[in-house]
Amino acid sequence: MSTERANMSIECSIKNCAYHCCDKDYCSLDKIKVGSHECDPTKKQCTDCMSFKMK
Ligand code: SF4
Repeated sequence: MSTERANMSIECSIKNCAYHCCDKDYCSLDKIKVGSHECDPTKKQCTDCMSFKMK
């Protein structure tokens, strides 16, 4: 899936994601959902983009 439009409000460097904006480090979705794989997240490493989709 291609990503033509960078959402300047959502910076992202995950190039493996289908919603990553090709040449820029931005997401192309209008909004994303952030969640966690931990039951008690305490660090930024505990957070995940739940809108991620493998290319
Ligand atoms: S959906 Fe999440 S991981 Fe994918 S480009 Fe957007 S912010 Fe990055």
